[in-house]
Amino acid sequence: MKRTADAVVIGGGVMGCSILHNLALKGISDTLLLEMGGLGSGSTGRSQAILRMHYSNEVTTRMAWKSLRIYKNFEDLTGGASGYTKTGYVLIVSGSDRNALRDNVMMQRAAGVAAGEMSPAEAMEAAPALRVLNSEACAFEPESGYADPHSVTQSYAAAARRLGASIATNTPALSVEVSGGRAAAVLTPQGRVAAPLVVVAAGPWSKGILSKLGIEVPLETIRHQVFVLRRPEPLAQDHPIIGDVVNGMSARPDVGGLTLVGAGEDEQGDPEGYDQGVDVEVFRGIAERLERRMPGMSQARFRGGWSGLFTVTPDWHPILDKAEHVDGLYVAAGFSGHGFKLAPMVGVAMAELAADGRAATIDISQLGIDRFSSGRLLRSRYGMSVLA
Ligand SMILES: Cc1cc2nc3c(=O)[nH]c(=O)nc-3n(C[C@H](O)[C@H](O)[C@H](O)COP(=O)(O)OP(=O)(O)OC[C@H]3O[C@@H](n4cnc5c(N)ncnc54)[C@H](O)[C@@H]3O)c2cc1C
Repeated sequence: MKRTADAVVIGGGVMGCSILHNLALKGISDTLLLEMGGLGSGSTGRSQAILRMHYSNEVTTRMAWKSLRIYKNFEDLTGGASGYTKTGYVLIVSGSDRNALRDNVMMQRAAGVAAGEMSPAEAMEAAPALRVLNSEACAFEPESGYADPHSVTQSYAAAARRLGASIATNTPALSVEVSGGRAAAVLTPQGRVAAPLVVVAAGPWSKGILSKLGIEVPLETIRHQVFVLRRPEPLAQDHPIIGDVVNGMSARPDVGGLTLVGAGEDEQGDPEGYDQGVDVEVFRGIAERLERRMPGMSQARFRGGWSGLFTVTPDWHPILDKAEHVDGLYVAAGFSGHGFKLAPMVGVAMAELAADGRAATIDISQLGIDRFSSGRLLRSRYGMSVLA
């Protein structure tokens, strides 16, 4: 393994690999990415991988929209496939959230996003399996869809390698060495790697790595469950992705007539050991709510599922910043349940920040670490935190 590098990236999820590739595109390619397991073995490999632009804050809407463009042309950038599949996205909220939805759609449109309001009747026409009450409100994004986290992560990694980056899997970063207030090296079981620039992109483990340096960041890990259902024959046609704020769940189609239903925003999960399966009790609740939204799904077959960890900050928005008090140390963490869709622009922004001292392509100044101590948290217009 290398003994020196211009930069070390800790974590081989979609963020670490996107950052590694973007650093290489900026000419910083004598780099090393350390991944303690396999690439994409953390939250990335468990993602529902929905790409949508509906947010309460412009910074994330813009990042998701610019990232979608990259996912659409991913092969040109990395030589690999993103697996972008266009399905459209229907968001459903209760009448009391109608104004919030309207404000978000206006903000999206001002940012150039293809999005609009839809009446319940139009939503049911777009997705005949849906039942939407007249009292509810809907928004639609025609370009939204999903992609393939494994292919994206591997493609970024392969493209970075071609530009000169090195990747060590099954190699944990044990600690970051700081000398004279600067990042100096990363220690691994295979030895010390000297580097003036270190990026922590370790998903649920980021808090622990930073804590060893005396840097406390308000990151928590939340277990989120994904249920896999085979749709019954009458619903064999794909449906758009459904973001259902009323019922607190999301549903996206998958190949083979499957629907992946995601739910859960409040159960703590320990990255060192949590239940990676799904709970029967939770499934019962989900099945009931899903049946209300898509009555034909009462005949769907349960095909299993999995759980993964959201790494969340108090405002469910990420930290994209230089670490306080340690020069050369950068943090990209806290992506909650919406990091995958942002990953292309996270890579661009973090590479610019680390190489040039400022992210020029997108303004990430609202995503700094000091927003927690200064009380400048971003706000969601909804109760469903992931739509912050
Ligand atoms: C169930 C679920 C559903 C989701 N659905 C969506 C969705 O629909 N749309 C969306 O946009 N986002 C979604 N997300 C969120 C998205 O998947 C994550 O935000 C994103 O994958 C985070 O990527 P990451 O690289 O930051 O973290 P991770 O993928 O967790 O990567 C971190 C990596 O760091 C490694 N690591 C940790 N510590 C060390 C160390 N000391 N040394 C070396 N390596 C280390 C880990 O092994 C891991 O591979 C979902 C997440 C989950 C869990």
